[in-house]
Amino acid sequence: MHADLSDDERDHIPVISTGELPSGERVRELLIEAHERYGSVTTGQVADYIPALADASPDLFGLAVMGVRGRSFSVGDSAVEFSIQSVSKPFVFALVCEALGFDEARKRIGVNNTGLPFNSVMAIELNADRTMNPLVNAGAIATTSLVPGDSADEKWQNVLGGLSKFAGRPLAIDPAVYASEAANNMHNQGIARLLESYGRMYFDPFEATDVYTKQCSINVNVTDLAVMGATLADGGVNPLTGERVVSADTCKRVLAVLATAGLYEQSGEWMYDIGLPGKSGVSGGIITIAPGKGGVATYSPPLDAAGNSVRGQLASKFLSDLLGLNLFASAPVMSALVE
Ligand code: GLN
Repeated sequence: MHADLSDDERDHIPVISTGELPSGERVRELLIEAHERYGSVTTGQVADYIPALADASPDLFGLAVMGVRGRSFSVGDSAVEFSIQSVSKPFVFALVCEALGFDEARKRIGVNNTGLPFNSVMAIELNADRTMNPLVNAGAIATTSLVPGDSADEKWQNVLGGLSKFAGRPLAIDPAVYASEAANNMHNQGIARLLESYGRMYFDPFEATDVYTKQCSINVNVTDLAVMGATLADGGVNPLTGERVVSADTCKRVLAVLATAGLYEQSGEWMYDIGLPGKSGVSGGIITIAPGKGGVATYSPPLDAAGNSVRGQLASKFLSDLLGLNLFASAPVMSALVE
């Protein structure tokens, strides 16, 4: 693994979150530095359990930041499109919170960590509530089954339209990734069927899995992800378009679930290092949300064993530290008197 920050570098880290992103020049400088620092890391494997994902070049590396005041920064492969995969999950959960209310959504889906991999069937068997949260496949497919719409197509249109509002531009599906996953998603169909047996699937399980598979195949670039994250950081208003996408109450709950389960069984490690709600996906994207400040997004396909982008985690940590975003960082308010 790449060397951590040196002591000298640590001395220059703002100990607490500043309330604002630093100056544009500083953000740009840090993005370039993160890109240079971690671009040479070669550990990790590109996902291949969905055959179409295996075609992604392991060298791709893009970083983006979007501030809640509309400032946008990017470096590297920021225009390259990739399927959103699991990064779609918090946004579909947000749409369902809007439709059902966040308390009802909690009742139907759950908001606790499973401590198990994203596609775990054991997590369903071991937990009395069956679906544990909207960010692992079981809860995510159940969440998709709750999206408003009488038919699978209406649900799909609502998912696509909703995620496009989060991104601030019309998004579209990658047909090759969809076809590839649809031909290989018996495991997810099995999960949906199992949930049905427990009364925790709220639409036809196969149709819900199909809408979920389409949702995971929506194409985005790293800048889109930063805008989507910034919308959650901005009380539900998209800083690019000025449009309200979801309520501030919904945002608060979505960020809470991300904080507990966004990086699956690695969520504790992520919180320990980065100190912010985040979400990863198997195509190599990660979003990090700094509430009230903005969204940070990374794209790099090689993943660790839990399915999280290796370079993405390193760059997210570097940016969280150096941009002063960690939610848990504080300095004694009376320190001037004590010292
Ligand atoms: N579509 C993928 C799946 O269900 C998403 C998983 C992920 O990104 N972790 O297997």
